Amino acid sequence: MTTQLGLPTLRGGPSRDPSRPADTRLVDGFGRVATDLRISLTDRCNLRCTYCMPAEGLDWMPRDEQLTDDELNRLIAVAVHELGIEELRFTGGEPMLRKGLENVLSAASALHPRPDISLTTNGIGLARRAGALAAAGVNRLNVSMDTLRPERFAEITRRDRLQDVLDGLAAAHAAGLRPVKINAVLLRGVNDDEAADLLEFALAHGYQLRFIEQMPLDAQHGWRRSEMITAEEILARLEERFVLRESGEDRGGAPAEKFEVLGRHDGAPLRTPGTPDTAPTVGVIASVTRPFCGACDRTRLTADGQVRTCLFATGETDLRAMLRGGATDAEIADTWRYAMWGKKAGHGIDDPGFLQPTRPMSSIGG
Ligand code: SAM
Ligand code: SF4
Repeated sequence: MTTQLGLPTLRGGPSRDPSRPADTRLVDGFGRVATDLRISLTDRCNLRCTYCMPAEGLDWMPRDEQLTDDELNRLIAVAVHELGIEELRFTGGEPMLRKGLENVLSAASALHPRPDISLTTNGIGLARRAGALAAAGVNRLNVSMDTLRPERFAEITRRDRLQDVLDGLAAAHAAGLRPVKINAVLLRGVNDDEAADLLEFALAHGYQLRFIEQMPLDAQHGWRRSEMITAEEILARLEERFVLRESGEDRGGAPAEKFEVLGRHDGAPLRTPGTPDTAPTVGVIASVTRPFCGACDRTRLTADGQVRTCLFATGETDLRAMLRGGATDAEIADTWRYAMWGKKAGHGIDDPGFLQPTRPMSSIGG
């Protein structure tokens, strides 16, 4: 299967709705403003997480369909200079598989105003590259790690690489990247008994843990709402060991609900002396059961240059064709603006007519 097949790309660009206000930013029809750009650098990956893609992988995007570094740098500059993008998150697939990653990061960090730059990675190879990533301009890292048990890691990712991820986390911390965040997805009957252990580990190392509800974005369409672990269940498991309190912080467009970890039910100290001094918190990203679409501030760019208004969008806008057809920066910016103006109110997972997007998470950029 080629993930690009059959996508309803808006070849002629989005319709020019005359009711769109003359605002240079990425405003939409529901009053939201996108200031956070998620960029997928590649759809390839060196792991095969069961909730993301099949064991045999996918038919990867042909190289000539992928944006070149120069094309990508140009779109990022348009986003920052013309459209008011303030934050860039590089993801994939596995973004560290992109050749020239550090060059793209350096170009982004040289922009004025300088955007905040973060990277979401599976951590393979991070131990060796954390310093170079920090030097190239990465401010923050999210590392995905769903379990602390090597055999479970091998079962979930279909690769025996847990130690690489643990080493990567330590290297990121040592390189001064703060906060180092861990993303974890819990799967029923696989690792759903590890919520409190993962938090224990994160507290002991000064990492910030966030749980992500499993979403219907896997390439093999195996997601079942009845089987997913909900935010409520995650919190209940954490509260068996820890005392939590909602942080009460204004989340803004942040997807994670944040909880302060106040202590333990058995009264033992939360952390041992010498633990890095970060506020003990845990986050839950409840995209399915507690959607946060109303505050969404995101726009997305795929590795083949398609703008998406949402992870769950079923249409895309082709900026690569514009780039390769000689469009000016102003024309590209305008097309991006109209694409975002058409962003839907919500992801609609609960609508009876919900359709999972053709493009899987690994190709959209999670
Ligand atoms: N390969 C990198 C990684 O794993 O961090 C970046 C891409 S991955 C698609 C980004 C995040 O999406 C990871 O934290 C991963 O666990 C999460 N993810 C992938 N498929 C998911 C799904 N179906 N539901 C929820 N989260 C998912
Ligand atoms: Fe790769 Fe990330 Fe998908 Fe796992 S979640 S298969 S690491 S893209």
